[in-house]
Amino acid sequence: MPVSTTALPTSFYTQFLSDQSLRRSPSAIRSLYPLEKQPGIISLLAGKPNASTFPFTSFSFTARAPSLDPALLGPAGGPRETDVHVTITPEDLAIGLQYADTAGLPELLRWLEGLQEKMHGRRASAEGCKISVGSGSQDLIYKAVNSIVNPGDPVLAERPMYAGVIPMFTNIKCEIFEVETDAEGISSDSLRQILEAWPQGKPKPKVLYTVPYGCNPTGMTASLARRKEVLKLAREHNFIIIEDDPYYYLYYGTAERVPSYFALELEEPEVGRVLRFDSLSKILSSGLRVGFATGPEKLVSAIDAYTMTSNLQSSSLTQVLTLGLLKQWDYDGFFTHTRGVSAFYGQKRDVFEAAMNRHLKGLCEWVAPQAGMFYWFRLIVPDEDSNAIIRTKAFENGVLALPGTVFLPNGGKSAYVRASFSLLTPEGVEEALTRLAKTIKEARGL
Ligand code: PMP
Repeated sequence: MPVSTTALPTSFYTQFLSDQSLRRSPSAIRSLYPLEKQPGIISLLAGKPNASTFPFTSFSFTARAPSLDPALLGPAGGPRETDVHVTITPEDLAIGLQYADTAGLPELLRWLEGLQEKMHGRRASAEGCKISVGSGSQDLIYKAVNSIVNPGDPVLAERPMYAGVIPMFTNIKCEIFEVETDAEGISSDSLRQILEAWPQGKPKPKVLYTVPYGCNPTGMTASLARRKEVLKLAREHNFIIIEDDPYYYLYYGTAERVPSYFALELEEPEVGRVLRFDSLSKILSSGLRVGFATGPEKLVSAIDAYTMTSNLQSSSLTQVLTLGLLKQWDYDGFFTHTRGVSAFYGQKRDVFEAAMNRHLKGLCEWVAPQAGMFYWFRLIVPDEDSNAIIRTKAFENGVLALPGTVFLPNGGKSAYVRASFSLLTPEGVEEALTRLAKTIKEARGL
């Protein structure tokens, strides 16, 4: 950490914890787990089943060797000579089959700490930060929201907003203040206006939710200038940034990549306002269900305290398998793989962009994404509403997409549509956009 920067003290975070979180005490059993490892201790503590009764005796798998060439990703073509064979050692298997630490397997956490240091320039444990693994990042975001926000609290969120997060706030009747977004991502001007016009006497928002890379749904990536402004506003107005960044590794833009909020914080006089969420879903497997939170120790521990009462921990076995692959690949292999994956999505984006230009010019407006897997386009239709057109007419014409209204935190009309281009072949794209063009023309009475 630069000398000009100081980490905010642990006591600072009490103001950000929800009533539920403050009432939550760590599990009596799980908080004693680490003591079991002390030499000489005979543990009568945990209700761990005796692993000798478990029927599994070995795990091994084959994975693709990391490659920059998108054509070499995935199962197409069956086994290859370059494939990597990973056999889980008996010691790791024993760990994978048993209950484990709430925050995640220590060895996986160390690997992730190294990853965060390489990508964001911050060694978590040296800066009052902590990393915890969850069953996907969604799991951790939900627990973080619950640990910070009280029912009815005001919160800040970008509009449009990842639909999977909206109910986390609306189910507990939060008042969502919508921050505008455009081709540069979240608008710091809009955020400033909201904060400067904040009614006197009204409790200030404790969090801002944002997806900075290849946003779901807009596909946009927040610019450096915007990020810096948002960080400044977080300091001036005392809120935490929930940086939900599952598309971080899916950046295929040509310009140099913009640092994360977590990294940029180092340029601030104090660090500790960013709670970052990463996901392995888009780069290793979404079925693995591995995500991780990185941020101030107190806030990440509050997530762990929730985990202790909900699912105890994320799957040990999944973590052991993930770690087996990551160790085999090492960091260089991981980065080669993620570059290959982003090139794969970059090619898909190019195919989609070309087809958009062929079929939807004059019928829609859009900005091509530089990251992620979504196109967000505005239908040029008389009533500025995509809902009925997409839900019924497009479906009747054999194409399924999401109307923009789904992503509006407080509901309302939207002329936008979210289209995911991750799965389609070039022929599929051609057909889908032909059908969409037909639908829009019909809606316009052409
Ligand atoms: N945040 C955003 C913005 C997402 O798009 C998704 C996946 N749809 C998630 C979080 C959840 O990802 P995970 O699989 O890691 O739970």
